[in-house]
Amino acid sequence: MNHYSQSQIINAARYPKNHKDEMETEIVCGCYSCTSIFFPNEIKEYQRAKDHRSVAVCPFCNSPTVIGSRSGYPIRKDFLEEMKQYWSKEDYLNSLKDNI
Ligand SMILES: [Zn+2]
Repeated sequence: MNHYSQSQIINAARYPKNHKDEMETEIVCGCYSCTSIFFPNEIKEYQRAKDHRSVAVCPFCNSPTVIGSRSGYPIRKDFLEEMKQYWSKEDYLNSLKDNI
C-alpha cells in the first residue's frame, strides 16, 4: 500500500469525467467509491453534469466516481482503494454532488 503518489491519487479524481461515447470505448473502468472494477458495457446509467457532460455512474454503488483506463491511471484494486481512502472525506463527496 501507499506506493502511489498523493498527486496521482488527487489528480485521478479530478480527471475530467468522460463523455458517454468515450466511456464506452474504455477497456476497463474502476470506481473509487466501492473499488469495483468493471467493463464499460456494465455501466447502465449516466448522470448529466452541470456542463452537460454525461458522467458514468458505478453499476455497483451508484456513485458518479468512475474512472476509465484511458485516463492513464492504473485501474487496479490497490489504486482505487487508496483513492477511496483519500476521497472518502465528507466535504469532498458533498462537493462532488454539487457538480452533478
Ligand atoms: Zn462503485
